[in-house]
Amino acid sequence: MKCPVCSEVKSTSVFEIGNMPASIGVQYPSRRQATDCARGRLDLMFCPKCGFIWNRSFDASLLEYSQRYDNSLDHSPVFREYARELARRLIHTYGITHKRVLEIGCGKGHFLSLLCEEGGNSGIGFDPSYEGEQIRSSGHGSIEYHKDFYGEKHVSSQGDLVCCRHVFEHVENPVEFLSTVHRTINGDRDVMVYFEVPNVRFILDQLSVWDVIYEHCNYFGYESLEFVFKKAGFEVVRLEEAYGGQFLSIEARISKEDWDGRSEATHSAGMSALAESVDAFSLNVAAREKPWIDRFASWSQDNTRTVIWGGGAKTVSFLNMLSMSGVISHVVDINPNKQGLYIPGSGQEIIAPDFLMSYQPDVVVLMNPIYRREVELKLKEIKVRTRLIDA
Ligand SMILES: [Zn+2]
Repeated sequence: MKCPVCSEVKSTSVFEIGNMPASIGVQYPSRRQATDCARGRLDLMFCPKCGFIWNRSFDASLLEYSQRYDNSLDHSPVFREYARELARRLIHTYGITHKRVLEIGCGKGHFLSLLCEEGGNSGIGFDPSYEGEQIRSSGHGSIEYHKDFYGEKHVSSQGDLVCCRHVFEHVENPVEFLSTVHRTINGDRDVMVYFEVPNVRFILDQLSVWDVIYEHCNYFGYESLEFVFKKAGFEVVRLEEAYGGQFLSIEARISKEDWDGRSEATHSAGMSALAESVDAFSLNVAAREKPWIDRFASWSQDNTRTVIWGGGAKTVSFLNMLSMSGVISHVVDINPNKQGLYIPGSGQEIIAPDFLMSYQPDVVVLMNPIYRREVELKLKEIKVRTRLIDA
């Protein structure tokens, strides 16, 4: 199986599981529809040459990126603060004021609005899941939204800053995608490109198996992210971990010269550490699941009332990868658009935090520890005394 990034043929298997919900950002109006959702197979492969990890059984036709797709984290104060700080840093570092920002995969448009408001910029955003007016006034000018996937037909859409957050890991052919971005920029070295993706080293080293989801056909670490950008003709300006190590962000611009592939050698130390992490993940992932299966069995026996906090991607994986997860009755989410809908595959109803005032759960499982303080405060506010444990 050839690596889709560097064409190396000696890839190795990392992790496999079948019958996983294909779309994690779509919640369903009934339990029946949720359990009948489209499903696919995860078959993760690792390339020892460039470090890229991908799902070789990925089938894009199973996915749904319609307007009912909502994987936005913007209802969380922690995430909103992170996005605001990031927008400010990009604006100040690269002088993005009274300019134009292009966002590929702008979701519901929160980050693009931030960049435009904070910097007095105008914007253009692409996302099939966008809802709302096509043109909105903001910042210095207006924001033009296109309910469409960004692609070859949009290469004439220019921006002084090109952002693409949490999209690249969903793209079946990352090299071709970046080449399209390269053509959009059309040789202008003043244009900055900002991409943000989940950090595969975090997933591997923390055994964060719930971060493995069908929608993500690509998993990048430092090495593979730098490799793919250089291969597509970019010069990497900054590459770092963000959001408690859970994300990787890269800032790049068009490279002056053609890349000769030389950076491979400088990555040999990183690559061997990555290969070790991949091996350790493959070996230990079952041990990560076992205590949860035991816990579910004991909760089922003594009727422990258990809910999950967070109706995002991690929860979909957690509930669908583990057997007996039916013992969990509900999933709490602060995003009102998700409340009253059902989790793909496993079929738990998504409820508002206030529901817990009457339900009084014995245990709340917190899917992402970065929200612990936020969740503790909310539980205190609604007078719910419970055990809050990390997934
Ligand atoms: Zn490769």
